[in-house]
Amino acid sequence: MRPIVHCHLVNGPFGDPSLYAEIMFERRAMLFDLGDLSPLSPRKLLRVSHAFVSHAHMDHFAGFDRLLRVLLGREKTVAMYGPADFIDRIEHKLHAYTWNVIGNYDGNLIFDVSEVHDGGIVWSARFQSRHAFRREPMPEARIEGDVLASCGALQVRCAVLDHATPCLGFALEERAHVNIWKTRLDELGLEVGPWLGALKRALLQDAPDDTPIRALRRSDEGVTPVTLPLGALRALATVVAGQKIAYVVDARDHVANVARIERLAWRADVLFIECTFLLADAAHAMRKNHLTAHRAGLIARHAQVKRLAPCHFSTRYAERGDVLSEEAQRAFQGLGPTA
Ligand SMILES: [Zn+2]
Repeated sequence: MRPIVHCHLVNGPFGDPSLYAEIMFERRAMLFDLGDLSPLSPRKLLRVSHAFVSHAHMDHFAGFDRLLRVLLGREKTVAMYGPADFIDRIEHKLHAYTWNVIGNYDGNLIFDVSEVHDGGIVWSARFQSRHAFRREPMPEARIEGDVLASCGALQVRCAVLDHATPCLGFALEERAHVNIWKTRLDELGLEVGPWLGALKRALLQDAPDDTPIRALRRSDEGVTPVTLPLGALRALATVVAGQKIAYVVDARDHVANVARIERLAWRADVLFIECTFLLADAAHAMRKNHLTAHRAGLIARHAQVKRLAPCHFSTRYAERGDVLSEEAQRAFQGLGPTA
């Protein structure tokens, strides 16, 4: 499978949290948390269409100013998502500046800001530079399942976690897709055409084998329509599960949080998860409302993720990041906490 999303931690595991997710072939990107964004070039920031903020502790949110600075004057809309009170926080940030001449700018910069409340209620507001970033209320919505945002082939799901303040975990998912084998089409004497779209839809919906599909047959007389049962066409295609990337930071280590994270991250290709403290410092981790590396590894194991990407290390372990990674990876592999 050719991955359509490439991710990297903007500041490595020790720096302020921020994950840059580049959507290949679309010149577009998403950000998960807005820690220090200064390592990202303006070109990269200009690609950001969506920004998801787990919570507004400063290390996760201080980069908003950098994003604003680079995008200002551009004709651009950024969809932003965060937990309860997020709209107020964006408003406060925007209103820290003087906008008396912003109306003269050509480009209109728009932030469509949504905050997630318990029960899946989402409040939204628009801030646009043309109106000096005055708050414009948008209709209230309700999340379908746990899908917070959909964009093309991608969707972002969220879970509300407890960090002694609401903190959102996120999962970026590509919907399943269908690959058609051209060689098998040739073997069956079938011609490519718009009918393959109907075939793909039927396969993704897991339709029964007797579902009729209007195909195109190639013969000496030319190309003629033919109706075939879906069952006869299954061998033409492979259904490929989409890519899934989960991002979880800042959560207390308790049963409810762990269950929510495991559900969110279920069978992800990669789970970026905070490994803030060592198990030996579990009491401190509890006081600070963070996971230990050991717990993060266990969560990744139980969620059956393919790869664990430890992040958000406490600076108390500077120069010793490998110890945190090792503790997490050992738990992930089902080994004990110490070597
Ligand atoms: Zn944090």
